[in-house]
Formats: sequence, C-alpha cells, structure tokens
Amino acid sequence: MPELPEVETVRRGLAPAMINRQIVQVEVRRKDLRFPFPSNFTHSLIGREILALRRRAKYLLVDLDDQMSLIMHLGMSGSFRIEEETLGNFIHVRNRLFAHDHVTFHLSNGQRVIYNDPRRFGFMLLIPTVEIMTHGYFSHLGVEPLSNLLNAEFLARGFHHRKTSVKSLLLDQHLIAGIGNIYACEALHEAKISPLRQGRDLVTQQGRPSAALKRLPKTIKNVLEKAISAGGSSLRDHRQTDGAMGYFQHQFKVYGRENESCYTCGAKKNISRIDQSGRSTFYCPGCQK
Ligand SMILES: [Zn+2]
Repeated sequence: MPELPEVETVRRGLAPAMINRQIVQVEVRRKDLRFPFPSNFTHSLIGREILALRRRAKYLLVDLDDQMSLIMHLGMSGSFRIEEETLGNFIHVRNRLFAHDHVTFHLSNGQRVIYNDPRRFGFMLLIPTVEIMTHGYFSHLGVEPLSNLLNAEFLARGFHHRKTSVKSLLLDQHLIAGIGNIYACEALHEAKISPLRQGRDLVTQQGRPSAALKRLPKTIKNVLEKAISAGGSSLRDHRQTDGAMGYFQHQFKVYGRENESCYTCGAKKNISRIDQSGRSTFYCPGCQK
C-alpha cells in the first residue's frame, strides 16, 4: 500500500506535467473505484486549469481554477503514469496491466496522466477547495510530519501524561498524519528509542521534551525524506509516479529484518518483532532504550 513517501513521490512526479495545464479531456472507463465517481465528473473537469497539486496525509489535492479541488487517493494499488500524446515521443511502458487503466486526463501540454488501479480501493471526488480542511476526510488529521509543525515541543504536548506506547502514538492520525508503520519503526530506531516506551516517559515533569524525544522529529523527517529521494531517483525510467512500485526495502534498518543483525550497534540476530495494537513492530532491544 502506498505510504506517505510514495504518495509524495507521486505528487512530485506529477506536478511538472499537471500544474498550470488545462484539462482538455477526461476518459473514465468505469462507474466506480472504491466509490462511484461523482455525477458529471468528466464534465466538471474538462476545460479547468490546474492551479496546484498538493498532498495532505496520503491524499493528492488538485486545485482547479473554479475553486473546486479534485481529491485523489491511491488506495492499495493505485498508480499514475504520464504518457506523451505525440506519436514521435510516445513512451510506452510494457508489461503494464492496461486493463486496469481506469481514468485518463488529457492535458493541454500534450501529455496524458493515466490512473491505473488493479484492486480499485483508490477513489476520486470533487469538493470546494475552501471546504477541504473541514471535510470529513481531513478535519481530524494531525500535523504533516514533514512540516515545521512537527517538532519536539509539539510531541511533548501530545505525549504528556500518555501511557500509550510511543510507537502507537506515532501512528495516531489525530496527532500526526500519515507516518505509517514502516516509517514509525525506522524513525524510532534512528532515534534509539524503544517502541515500548510510554509517551509520558519521554516528557519531563514540566512537560518539556526529554533528550531522547528531542531526537525524534529529525529522525521522522529523515526516514521519510530518504524514502522520497529513493523514489525520486527512479525518475529516469519514469516509474516515479507509480504508487505501486513498492518500498525501498534494502534501505530499512529494522523493518522486515526479524532475527537479523543490527546495522547500528552490530548485535547479532538482534532485530525483534513484536505485536503492538495489531501491527508488527521491528526494533533492536540492544540500541533502542
Ligand atoms: Zn542495535
């Protein structure tokens, strides 16, 4: 399933093709994805200019010139690709499941942006731009992990008096939007914090961040940025907009590495897997305290 870094990679890949372009045609090959397409979906989009392409949590927000926004979610298996309309410059990606191309946006720069989704858990809807932040999908969401709002003081306020484990707190969407299980494990490892510690243990009596907690915002941003750059680095084979291309597993220090040795402290066969709130947590008990 695409996580925040994959969605951000998709956003960065699509932005140059889409921003300041007009949508000249839209083809929709099904009535629905996870939900039915809005009525007059294509009619509402044709002729509109794209002003911005933003991301909030794992949603892509396409702001249009009529004060409406196209909200897109990749679900479990959604991906985008960009193709040139011009035959001479036609980029054809082989081995694609073209049967799962559900939506094509034809743009005024001669490119088309194609949405492919074999499992169809993705969805698209249109809402007024000003209503995004109060809309049901967005109103409960916490801070963006890559923004300046995520800092040690913020975490100290959120963790104060909380008996919940720091791992579960990092996955709490009301606090932080969209870190995801893999990156929560990796960020805690890099910060040398045990995922089992309670939130309140990382905050001083005065409600200030502990030394360990001060390390955490930076490691969260690091692991997410590293994953985004890894996605961006495959840009030349134009898979960069492909939300389904998978994770960059080789770069993980703990995730998926049960019983393997720790790269950080060198302890042999030390990476452990435990269950926390129904999710697998990977960590090194040797260097995460
Ligand atoms: Zn270790």
